[in-house]
Order: sequence, then C-alpha cells, then structure tokens
Amino acid sequence: MAQTLLDTARSTPLLLLGRRADPDSERGTICPGDVPAPGDPALIERARAARAALGDDLFVLGHHYQRDEVIAFADTRGDSYKLAVDAAANGAPTIVFCGVHFMAETADILTPPGTRVVLPDLAAGCSMADMAEIGQVETAWADLRAAGCDRVVPLTYMNSTAAIKSFTGREGGAVCTSSNAERAMRWAFDNGDQILFLPDQHLGRNTAVLRLGLSLDDCVVYDPRRPGGGVTPEALRAAKVILWKGHCSVHGTFTAAHVALARARVPGVKVLVHPECRHEVVTRADLVGSTEFIIDTIRSAPPGSRWAVGTELNLVGRLAQEHPDQQVTFLNETVCFCATMNRIDLPHLVWALEELVAGRVPNRIVVDADTRRWARVALDRMLALPGA
Ligand code: SF4
Repeated sequence: MAQTLLDTARSTPLLLLGRRADPDSERGTICPGDVPAPGDPALIERARAARAALGDDLFVLGHHYQRDEVIAFADTRGDSYKLAVDAAANGAPTIVFCGVHFMAETADILTPPGTRVVLPDLAAGCSMADMAEIGQVETAWADLRAAGCDRVVPLTYMNSTAAIKSFTGREGGAVCTSSNAERAMRWAFDNGDQILFLPDQHLGRNTAVLRLGLSLDDCVVYDPRRPGGGVTPEALRAAKVILWKGHCSVHGTFTAAHVALARARVPGVKVLVHPECRHEVVTRADLVGSTEFIIDTIRSAPPGSRWAVGTELNLVGRLAQEHPDQQVTFLNETVCFCATMNRIDLPHLVWALEELVAGRVPNRIVVDADTRRWARVALDRMLALPGA
C-alpha cells in the first residue's frame, strides 16, 4: 500500500517555488492576463498614505506566514513569540497585528494597559487554538484529579487562547513556544510528575520523545470529545505526558509519503520541518525546528543547497524568492496556506489603518483583567526558563 502511494506521489510534480519553472503547477503566484495583481496599486497607495499619517503612534507587526502584500507594511516580522516581545518593547500606543487572534491577545497581555491592539479581521483565528476550549480543559483537569493525578503541571503552547494561558498560570504551569518546549518540559518535570500539554499533540509528542528521550508509550492522547478523554484512569496515572488532541491544520497535512517523494525527486535534498508536523514526518526529516530556526537555517546555508520545507506556504514561497541561489521547495505537492492567517489581506489592512486615521479603533482585542493576570504569570514563567 505504501509503495502504491509513493508511486502515485512520484507522478505528481513537486511545487518548485519562485522560479516559474513549471507554470502549469506553480500555484499561489501572480496570475497573467486581466486578473488583478494581489497587491492592487490603488490599495497599496492608500495603505502607504494611512501608514504615513499614523507615524510613530503605530507599530505594525507581521507574522512570517502573512501574505507578501501585507508583510510589506510590517515594521517587524517574526513568529508569535518574537512579535509579542517586539510589541512589548516598542511602546507605541497602537499596534496593528497582522497575525491571528491568539497572537493579538498575547500582545495585549504583554503591553502596558491602554495599548490598543488591533486585529484587521476578527475571523483570523487559529484552528489549533480553537481545539482547546476552556470548559473542555477544566473538565480534563477534573478527570485528571479524579484519576488520582495530583502532581500534573500544565504547559500550553503559545498557540492557545488567553483563557487557556490563564488556566495554565493559575494551575502552576507555563506557556512555551516551539523554540523552548524542551526547556519548558524539563522545568515542568522539576515541578511535578506529569505534564498536561496543550493544545498541540504533535509538538508535545515530538518534544517528549525526541528531546527528552521518553517513549511513545509514555504519552497518552486526551480527546476532549470523548468521556474521560477516551483514556482510562489507569492509563492517565501511568502516562508521563498527557497530550491534548489538537493539531495544526497546516503542518498536520505533511506525511511520510511527502518526505519520501522529496528525497526521490530531488537528489541531495534536505528535509526541514516544523515540530508541529506529525511524528512520522519529524522522524524522517533531516532538521526540525521553529519558524525562526527554519528561516535562519536557509539564510545561513551555502549556495546550491536544496531544501524541501514543511511549514506554511507563504513563508516557504518568500524564502524561495529571498534565496534564489538555493533550491527551496514545499514539502507537499498540493497548496496549503494557513486559511486563517490569509484572512488578513490588503483590503482589511487598509480598512484598519484608515479607521485609525479617522480616529476610530476597529477590532480592538482586549483581554479582561483576571484572564490577563494569570496568563501573564504563565508567560512570565516561560520568560524565566533557564536560557530564555
Ligand atoms: S499555521 Fe497552524 S498553528 Fe499557525 S495560525 Fe495557522 S492553524 Fe494556527
């Protein structure tokens, strides 16, 4: 069966980005003919004018997964953690966050009260963050207590709602990122016997097994849609890491067959993936790391390097354009943007900027005081991790 899948995959061309090497299959680029360019000139001019009018009172943050026509207006680019830190350090009274909802919440938590954080489209959420609702997590916590698991430390990935971060802080846990998940897990085991890892099962599993040396059998998956999480009390007590059944809808699309295909079609290719990918993908890759790690790895690679990259397509396409002396391909033969990140487009950005120029604050993201207080505790514990 696996052989058949691989044969099928071999007949499908890899998406070679930024070279126009295969116009029939290279998607996500500018359309020829009468179709408008993604960055309409009139909109670009309006964005420039509004940005100039707002001056130093405005700081625009752009996540690496944003569209090119949006990232062009970012004062700083980064992953979710770097952007939150940049927002806190900048001190501008107004922030336009070109990212998704949980990132804007984190910026609101880390910036001084009164800072106005704007998300240009409120529909820009995160499917992973939405997979852990606070009521579900409180039920899971009660299930753990009922099973006799009373030395559990909750850890939540940055990609979670403010309510989950707040729960984590209140229950003695911390936030982590894909860069410091190993340090956070070691800290948690210094402070308890078990970890409840939210909401990304893949980052939790990959870190526990590949970084801490635990076995797959040390991990159980708690499914919030099943009674008791679908795990027996005995299995909950025996586990070292209880993984929440959540995943990223972008990174979860990469498979072992994609890795095999990349190796078969591109001699000497190095497979570089994000730890939100499935365990079967991460264990077959050459290099695994955060978004910033992926960017730094390609930036410092010699000319002629060949990469198949397993992360969001806007970023991979941009890396291909920025490093024409290397061969950067996407580790999936089909297009997969982060749909919610892509909600932030130039029309929404222009609308948000022009509203601010007019003295109105659109789509302000505000975290209530109690949620903010405990979420801040969880974030500060992360910032205090050794080596942070
Ligand atoms: S790439 Fe995945 S984790 Fe990141 S915002 Fe999109 S759905 Fe969420």
